[in-house]
Amino acid sequence: MPTVYDLAPQDLADRLAGWGEPAYRAKQVWTQLWKRAATYEQMSDILPSLRDRLAEELPLGVEVLDERTADRGATRKALLRLGGEHVIETVLMGYAERVTVCVSSQSGCAMGCTFCATGQMGLQNNLTAGEIAAQVVWARREAARLPPTTPQRLGNVVFMGMGEPLANERHVFGAIARLTDGRAFGLGARHITMSTVGLVPGIRHLTEAHPQVGLAVSFHAATDELRSRLVPPNDLYPLAVLEEAMVAWRAATHRRPSIEWAMIDRVNDTTEQAEALVPIARRLGAHVNLIPLNPTPGYPVVGSSSGRIRRFVDALERARVNVTVRDTRGRSIDAACGQLALAAAT
Ligand code: SAH
Ligand code: SF4
Repeated sequence: MPTVYDLAPQDLADRLAGWGEPAYRAKQVWTQLWKRAATYEQMSDILPSLRDRLAEELPLGVEVLDERTADRGATRKALLRLGGEHVIETVLMGYAERVTVCVSSQSGCAMGCTFCATGQMGLQNNLTAGEIAAQVVWARREAARLPPTTPQRLGNVVFMGMGEPLANERHVFGAIARLTDGRAFGLGARHITMSTVGLVPGIRHLTEAHPQVGLAVSFHAATDELRSRLVPPNDLYPLAVLEEAMVAWRAATHRRPSIEWAMIDRVNDTTEQAEALVPIARRLGAHVNLIPLNPTPGYPVVGSSSGRIRRFVDALERARVNVTVRDTRGRSIDAACGQLALAAAT
C-alpha cells in the first residue's frame, strides 16, 4: 500500500468496515484527507487508536526528505519520498495574489531535452495517481504556513516539475480526476495547467478527457531542425503535427494555449527564430512564455542576456504576439520549474 491517496472512496470504506468502524467513519477520514489536507495526527475528530492504525496500514506516503526556502519563505522546494520509494521535488510558490504548486509526474524523464536537469537523469519511475495528487494535498496543507504576504491558500497547480506528464497519462489523468472531484479535493480544472514537451496523442487525449485543463507546450524552437536538436520527441511529432493538435485543442476548449521557450544564448534567441515563431504563435492565438535558462551541469550553454531577451520580446510584440518573461523565482535554491533534479537537492 504505497499511499492512501491511491484508494478510491469505496476502497477506503471497505477497509474501515473491515476494521469494524461505522460507515460514516470512512467519509470523515476521506474529507480530512482530501478537503482539509490533514495528516492523521491532525485529525482531532478521530480516536488516537484509529489514527495509529490508519498511519500504520494506510500511510499518507509523503515523507519530506529535505526542504529549502527562498523569497523570504514565499518559495518552498521540498524533496519528497512518495509511496515509500519514489523521490521527486515539488515547489510551492506564493505570490501576492495567488499560490501555485509545481508538481512532478515522474521521477526523472525519458524525453532527453538537452538543457533539462530532469532529462539528464533519465527516467527512474512513473508516479502513481495518488502520488501525484499527494503533492497537491501537501501543497494545500503547507500553503497555510506561507507568509501573510501571500493568500496562504493553494489556488493553482502546474505540471511543470519533474517528468513528462503525457508520458504518464493514465496516472496523471487519474490524479486530475481526484483533484477536480468536488467530493475529494475539489479544485476547478481551470486552475490546472499541463506542460508538455508536445506528445501529440497525449494532447488529443487531454482535449477529450479534461477540456478545462490549461495547455502549455514546450517549443523552445520554431524550426524542426533546431527543435529536434533541443527536444528529441520533435522527430516523432514535428512542428506541423504539433500545431495541428494544438489547433484542435483550441477549437475544442476555446482557450489560449501557451508556448514555453527557454532562452538559450545564441541558440534559440535569434531574429531568425523569432521570425519563425511569430506566424505559429499567431495561428494558435498562443501566449508565449519566455523562461530564462537555468544553468545545468550537463549542458554547457548559457542563458540569454537580458538585452537579447529584450530584443526577442520586442520582435514578438512588434508582430502583436502576446509574450511574457517568466520570473526567476526560487533560483537561489534551484527551485525554478524545469531545473528539478535530485542532485540539486541532495
Ligand atoms: N516535461 C514537461 C514539463 C516539465 S518541464 C515539459 O517539458 O513541458 C517544465 C518547463 O521547464 C518546460 O518548458 C521545460 O522545457 C522547461 N525547462 C527545462 N529545463 C530548463 C532549464 N534548464 N531552464 C529553463 N527551463 C527549463
Ligand atoms: Fe522531460 Fe520536460 Fe525535461 Fe524535456 S523539459 S526532459 S520533457 S522534463
